[in-house]
Amino acid sequence: MNDESTDRPAPAAGNFLGELRARLAAQRWMLGAAVALGVVAWWQAGVTLPLVLAGIAVMVLAALLAPRRRLLVARRLRQSRQVSPWPDTGMKHLSDALPNPCFIVDRRGITRYVNRAARIRFGDPHPGDPLSMRLRIPALLEALDRVGAGGPAQRIEWSERVPMESWLEAFVAPLAQGGEGGEASAAPLRFILVTVQDLTEQRRLERMRADFVANASHELRTPLASLTGFVETLQGPARDDPVARERFLAIMLQQGDRMRRLIDDLLSLSRIELKAHVQPETVLDLAPLVRHTCDALTPVADEAGVAVEVTTPQRPCMVRGDRDELIEVIENLVENSIKYGASGKRVEIRLAAGETARADAPGVWVLAVRDFGPGIPPQHLPRLTERFYRVDVSTSREMKGTGLGLAIVKHILTRHKARLEIESTPGEGACFSVKIPAATIVTELDDAEKVV
Ligand code: ADP
Repeated sequence: MNDESTDRPAPAAGNFLGELRARLAAQRWMLGAAVALGVVAWWQAGVTLPLVLAGIAVMVLAALLAPRRRLLVARRLRQSRQVSPWPDTGMKHLSDALPNPCFIVDRRGITRYVNRAARIRFGDPHPGDPLSMRLRIPALLEALDRVGAGGPAQRIEWSERVPMESWLEAFVAPLAQGGEGGEASAAPLRFILVTVQDLTEQRRLERMRADFVANASHELRTPLASLTGFVETLQGPARDDPVARERFLAIMLQQGDRMRRLIDDLLSLSRIELKAHVQPETVLDLAPLVRHTCDALTPVADEAGVAVEVTTPQRPCMVRGDRDELIEVIENLVENSIKYGASGKRVEIRLAAGETARADAPGVWVLAVRDFGPGIPPQHLPRLTERFYRVDVSTSREMKGTGLGLAIVKHILTRHKARLEIESTPGEGACFSVKIPAATIVTELDDAEKVV
């Protein structure tokens, strides 16, 4: 801690009268007592007035000539009595303006102020309580001690498992207040600022990215290994076997195709991610888009032996959207329902006006793709839109799936401010509904439907 009193000139330096006044003020209690004693001695003990006055004059002289050190100590004592143990209003306003939870504590670790974000995050901690009551993190409390003892700012990280897995980071920094001459560094340590940052989302994204790279590499490596294996077989044992060659070449073509689909989906995903925060501007009619995309999938449906029924309103269903991306969404959902719900022999696609909270609000269009296949067990539903997540990996591969289709759908819909809802009863089929905001007000007339 700096010794402010020895380093700096007294405020009255260079001003002789001010210095005298300051010295008298510092000894005021002693002088007062001397005067009172003199009056009592003159009044009661019969001491002569000149003697009393001479005594007082000596005391005043002694006060004026008192050593400078004692005077400064007295001044410091007075100043320290004026310093409040609570942070000032400016400091409080500043901490309230910070987006992260932040505690102002004193050198002993007692909470002196808790900003708004910390009150929300840590359930209204009380100023006056030790910080350890809210943050029982040994590393943090040790850092607090080190900073309290005059050490530099510290950064601490820790993770919590309850109520859910989270990662947090605290920055513990010394805080000076009221330094004379405006020099914060020279001012004494008054408080310690503890700001807490939630790193959970950042960590989750880092983990997701790492998982994604690992998954993508694995997905690409499998067909690649199969391709090189067959090439080696064709160069070696099967060199002169025309039947095996034909069979192996057909498998190699399939594997090459699988790699191509995977790369296409990966590129599609990264392209959509790049535009994730830009909402499309073009207004287009969703109904013909649904009809044409379903028409284009007729050969796939025929091959799977599935009858596709499409129902759309007669009126235009205007939405703000990117045509190619919306086609990708419809294709993905309809293709999935044909592939995975083939055993139900029937797929219903229905575009209709959704329920609107207010008559004058634009409302939403709901595109529901329903199949009557095996359905999806409930524990898989929340994870279906994760990249590479499949209910059954081998079925997905058999169906030429990459595990990226619904992740692409979700990304496109997020960009369109639309939502995907999935309902399924195992054994009865699945229904994937897209709720997309309408670009114009949806009226009751829109419910008049046209069956294609
Ligand atoms: P894939 O490329 O494997 O089809 P998707 O992301 O499109 O990947 O789908 C993820 C998984 O969701 C699929 O592997 C499948 O298990 C499941 N799924 C998707 N649609 C349906 C459906 N209509 N019925 C049953 N399961 C489905």
